[in-house]
Amino acid sequence: MNDHTFSEDLARHFHFSLGRDTVQESHLYLYNALAITIRDRLVAQWRKTRTDRVGQRRVAYISLEFLMGRALNNAILNLNLDDTVRKTLNDYCCELEEVEQAEHDLGLGNGGLGRLAACFLDSCASLALSVIGYGIRYEYGMFNQQIKNGNQVEHPDNWLRHGNPWEIPAPEKAVRVKFFGNVDVITQKDGKQYRQWNNTHDVLAVPYDMPIPGYQNGIVNTLRLWKSEATDEFDLDEFNAGSYTEAVARKNLAEQITMVLYPNDTSENGKELRLRQQYFLSSASLQDVINTHIEIHGINFDNFVEFNGFQLNDTHPSIAVAELMRILMDDYEISWDNAWQITSQTMAYTNHTLLPEALEKWPVRLFENLLPRILDIIYEINARFLLQVAVCWPGDNEKQQTLSLIEEGPEPHVRMAHLAIVGSYSVNGVAALHTQLLKAGLFSDFYKLWPEKFNNKTNGVTPRRRLSHCNKSLSTLISSKIGKEWVGDLSQIAKLSEYAADKTFQKEWQESKLTNKIALADFVEQSTGVVFDVNMMFDVQVKRIHEYKRQLLNILHVIGLYDRIRKGDTDDITPRCVLIGGKAAPGYAMAKQIIKLINNVADTINLDPKASPYLRVAFIPNYNVSAMEIICPATDLSEQISTAGKEASGTGNMKFMMNGALTIGTLDGANIEIRDAVGEDNFFLFGAHADEVATIKANYQPNNIIANSPTLSAVMQLLESGHFNLFEPKIFDSIIQTIRDPHDMWLTAYDFDTYFEAQRNVDQLYKNKTLWTQKSILNTAASGVFSSDHTIRQYRDEIWKL
Ligand SMILES: *Cc1c(COP(=O)(O)O)cnc(C)c1O
Repeated sequence: MNDHTFSEDLARHFHFSLGRDTVQESHLYLYNALAITIRDRLVAQWRKTRTDRVGQRRVAYISLEFLMGRALNNAILNLNLDDTVRKTLNDYCCELEEVEQAEHDLGLGNGGLGRLAACFLDSCASLALSVIGYGIRYEYGMFNQQIKNGNQVEHPDNWLRHGNPWEIPAPEKAVRVKFFGNVDVITQKDGKQYRQWNNTHDVLAVPYDMPIPGYQNGIVNTLRLWKSEATDEFDLDEFNAGSYTEAVARKNLAEQITMVLYPNDTSENGKELRLRQQYFLSSASLQDVINTHIEIHGINFDNFVEFNGFQLNDTHPSIAVAELMRILMDDYEISWDNAWQITSQTMAYTNHTLLPEALEKWPVRLFENLLPRILDIIYEINARFLLQVAVCWPGDNEKQQTLSLIEEGPEPHVRMAHLAIVGSYSVNGVAALHTQLLKAGLFSDFYKLWPEKFNNKTNGVTPRRRLSHCNKSLSTLISSKIGKEWVGDLSQIAKLSEYAADKTFQKEWQESKLTNKIALADFVEQSTGVVFDVNMMFDVQVKRIHEYKRQLLNILHVIGLYDRIRKGDTDDITPRCVLIGGKAAPGYAMAKQIIKLINNVADTINLDPKASPYLRVAFIPNYNVSAMEIICPATDLSEQISTAGKEASGTGNMKFMMNGALTIGTLDGANIEIRDAVGEDNFFLFGAHADEVATIKANYQPNNIIANSPTLSAVMQLLESGHFNLFEPKIFDSIIQTIRDPHDMWLTAYDFDTYFEAQRNVDQLYKNKTLWTQKSILNTAASGVFSSDHTIRQYRDEIWKL
């Protein structure tokens, strides 16, 4: 398949498969033709990968979220087709960059957790691992965010409107998923009893497969996304009798399951539909794995553990523990003990959060109605588990209660994390501190029971998308010094440190950054109207808006700077452009107010001619994977300022570091490991430590802190005077209250002074271009361990045994 056939194939798809004559401005059809042409090439490798793998051990990575972003450019890079594609597009008088824009981001995730799943798929394929991703093909992904009058407005993400050229449906592999109904106890002739789940309302799960190409290695893995459909199109009798709406009601109900992604990051709201999604995904994926196993090995579960593994991405799919038990016992008549052996030796669970509000619990009442057979099994797992607890802590009723899978109370709940831990052979956190806090705090009793289950796997990001593809100028520069191998093996990037002090290399490094800043400035101006000066420092915080991530602390620093500028106190200020972006969960009122505050502060500052030589502020709307590809290559300063102990890992921090940003951050999540890797001289540290937080909270008096801090007093004065909401009285009162509240969980006032001081160190260093550039190079050079390849090798060796 050479350049010539590529160009012929593209023309054929454009003119015949799609029936188009001319290139339109949107490039939609050209994009589609290009995608199909590339897909054809993937399909050949895909088939080969599949057949080569028959009989090998496989791992299913089950995740409610996959935040894939765009597929075209990734495929071009991984198939090494860049030159071919560019040459071919010349015939259409188009640049690849224009055509790429026609692709809609695949936004089937909220934030870090979903993006991690996407990076992991890329690494698994690049390492030629037999791992299949299972997720949901949401009709509507993460909402599109617009900013109107400073407020977030959400719009549905109809990403399938123009079709999805990458997916291939496999209706012949559809499976049925049961809901509702009742459980009957059947007594056999020999007196043995078993349970049958009857009168269920079944839903069809139909797979859609997406190819996941490895990096230039001929491997194509699969992401299988499930769509829910009615088992029968509609009730023909009712339809014939004229009851049209009733006839399609069931169809609608079934299709509702995979209609929308829940837009809540790290908080759950106990909605029934969400539980249906979780069970739907778990059941369909397990059935699929079992069907494949049977195709190869026949109905034989003696070797199931040897050939299969499951990784649960957070507790969302943890119902899989009970579902696997159900399938093995009810469908294949395997005894409890054998089924439990199989389940507890194949399931592995990744925990993603310590925030109590994010620990999933479902009302028992909901289970009784929706999944009665599954509740049965959970009760039985619990009864057997509590016997073990009793052996370990005889007579300790409190331990029974705190460890139970069922939280008692007026409204009893099922604790999904407990189910996941009890049913898994591996439980991992996602950064060293996070895992340590899991063992010492949240799950300490489980750790006492089963220390061998617990392990750490620090997150990572793929160097393909996160550096090679998104930062062409830097990639080229790096390759010119150390060769191209780093793209497939990021540990090579350490060689860059030799050149950190090299003056010519520094100059080239600065030029690359400038190129990227020009592109970002363009993007910011187009989407916000704010003009960024590329000679100023680019200070960036993009991530979901959450109180624990403390965008509020960031904007308080901005207000502090603005206050100094107003007072003419500008001597030690280095001019900077501050960029903030991220989506708030639609029901998260405080997060939405923080967005409004950022926008109002930005408007005030950007309109003040006194400020513009020193400070410009923009809120970038609709932060997503593609936006990050423009943002992180251009960033000078990466803001990773969560309250210590709250950010499980972070992965945004790694993307910025890889692209040469310096980090200002707290000792939280993977920041700690980033600082260890690059050295404390190359990281701006501030703030309370995780182990101090409890003590600080016990006697927290933010009003005293404010009174004793001249800078924070001035900031609060400006904020409380209504300077940023002259015509919108009181809208920021609740924000002001939380800062002054002794129960403020996030310790914003506590960390303000050290943050402000660290920012002055940033200002000082940025004035010294040589030293800044040297540290920037050292950051990229130290980013090797944050490649998701490195992370996945550890999963492979220590959990999956692939
Ligand atoms: C990397 C990434 C995240 C995660 O960012 P954190 O700073 O780790 O919270 C969220 N959303 C998108 C689009 C990303 O690319």
